[in-house]
Amino acid sequence: MTDAPEDTEASAHEAHGGGLGSRLNWLRAAVLGANDGVVSTAGLVVGVAGATESRAALLTAGLSGLLAGSMSMAAGEYVSVSTQRDSEEAALAQEKRELREDPEAELAELTALLAARGLSADVAREAAEQLTERDALRAHARVELGIDPDDLTNPWHAAGASFLAFTVGALLPLLAIVLPPTSVRLWVTVGSVLAALALTGWWSARLGSAPAGRAILRNVGGGALAMAVTYAAGSLLGATGI
Ligand SMILES: [Zn+2]
Repeated sequence: MTDAPEDTEASAHEAHGGGLGSRLNWLRAAVLGANDGVVSTAGLVVGVAGATESRAALLTAGLSGLLAGSMSMAAGEYVSVSTQRDSEEAALAQEKRELREDPEAELAELTALLAARGLSADVAREAAEQLTERDALRAHARVELGIDPDDLTNPWHAAGASFLAFTVGALLPLLAIVLPPTSVRLWVTVGSVLAALALTGWWSARLGSAPAGRAILRNVGGGALAMAVTYAAGSLLGATGI
């Protein structure tokens, strides 16, 4: 397999290794998952609160939203990481076959990839020979495919992390609408949700080294819009007396 050096470089950064990049990816996914839990559950319970004052109805709607959302996130993550893992395993199997069938061509390929990264021809050849001697498959996996064969992402871990992140986010609007007295529950929910969204907006901007102000505004604005729309829909439905 031959890749352009730029592609190899890019896939190395995308890979789920043990490095800083992958830890940042996990953190970012956790913040986004929690944000999803906050926004979708807040929209749901505020919409129901527009239609009814029943605490049982609010609890049922909020809990159902929490469970449906976290399970849907976990299932989606499981499927996507499983597919990624399948293709990584297929690439490793092909690499193994190529190493067995044509070790000379593979050595030349590794040499070229290392040379493309800035090593002189002699040094690249020497490095490729040493890497091949130590662990040829691992060297090709790292340099050519940008993956670590001993550290492929586990779909169950990814699914569990998504489930947890969404649940943590969803608990906030659920508790905020159910616990306070009826007269203030809506304001407690709106206030705590907007504060939480300011926090996740700030955090995700920080993780991506982007300016925080605009990220916070977008995130808070999106959540406010979601709650306004569902509250209006819930109030309309409630007024019809269905
Ligand atoms: Zn190879």
